[in-house]
Amino acid sequence: MASLCGLGQTAPNPILSTLKYFREEYEAHIKEKKCPAKVCKDLLTYGIIEEFCKGCGVCLRACPAGAITGQKKKPHKLNSDICIRCGACFDVCKFNAVRKE
Ligand code: SF4
Ligand code: SF4
Repeated sequence: MASLCGLGQTAPNPILSTLKYFREEYEAHIKEKKCPAKVCKDLLTYGIIEEFCKGCGVCLRACPAGAITGQKKKPHKLNSDICIRCGACFDVCKFNAVRKE
């Protein structure tokens, strides 16, 4: 059934346009549960790249969930089961040792 107002027929246009130009984005979200633009918090995962980690402990202190463990000057570890995906570790690491994907 169509809308009583003529303009109602244009209601799906924004969706159709984004589907046309950003189909890969939609598919990544739906099929792979990934956000290529790294915007959708619930679809992000964080991890520590051991070879880049200097063991400075800055991320460990910044993590509000206690998801990061490690000893000084040793590669730290991130427990993704506890991580609440706040992004604080990614923001504070100066060595690009936190990956966000
Ligand atoms: S802030 Fe970066 S370098 Fe420092 S412990 Fe965390 S991941 Fe490693
Ligand atoms: S994203 Fe937030 S909760 Fe997850 S490990 Fe990093 S600082 Fe902790």
